[in-house]
Amino acid sequence: MELLTLPLGPLGTNCYIATDTAGTAAIIDPGGDAEIVLQALATKGWRAGHILLTHAHFDHIGAVAELCSALNVPVALHALDLPLYRSGGGGRKYGLTFEVGPDPEVALDDVGTITVGATTFEVRFVPGHTVGHVAFYAPEAGAVFSGDVLFEDGIGRTDLPGGSYERLMLSIREQLLTLPDATAVYPGHGPATTIGRERQLNPFLAAD
Ligand SMILES: [Zn+2]
Ligand SMILES: [Zn+2]
Repeated sequence: MELLTLPLGPLGTNCYIATDTAGTAAIIDPGGDAEIVLQALATKGWRAGHILLTHAHFDHIGAVAELCSALNVPVALHALDLPLYRSGGGGRKYGLTFEVGPDPEVALDDVGTITVGATTFEVRFVPGHTVGHVAFYAPEAGAVFSGDVLFEDGIGRTDLPGGSYERLMLSIREQLLTLPDATAVYPGHGPATTIGRERQLNPFLAAD
């Protein structure tokens, strides 16, 4: 897997472009600045396969509409985050409005895996930050895209609508900490880390 990390949009949210060897790309959480994504694809000579959304907060979906019209790619999102997606990802209360993308074509509660080109991602349901949050785990690459659930030395906030601290901790323990220690964690914000590092050093996990 070849991977590009692009901090995009109003909060500099990590957008990941992950490709197979043939250059078919999964665009994970494009939060804004669609032109930067389009430029990166053009520079690399990659083809967009799917847009994968870990969840529907505005800072993860802001470029979806533009990318869909430019690339004509399907969007995948868990059905429980669809109302949040349609309402603009909770950005309105911060004055952040943008054109919302078309309804997702892939409802992730119906599929245990999603395949983009030659890459198969396991869909891991990890609610607690939002009600329909998922993580995308690529076992062959040893990588998990964790959205706003697990960060280096941090966990997702649970004070937003649909948040639950207990549910978030359960999601992390059952769906993420069960992955091998060497698994790379690519979060929605901040640097990449590993499951092993967070298991040992993350203060929110140690205290529990
Ligand atoms: Zn979020
Ligand atoms: Zn975020």
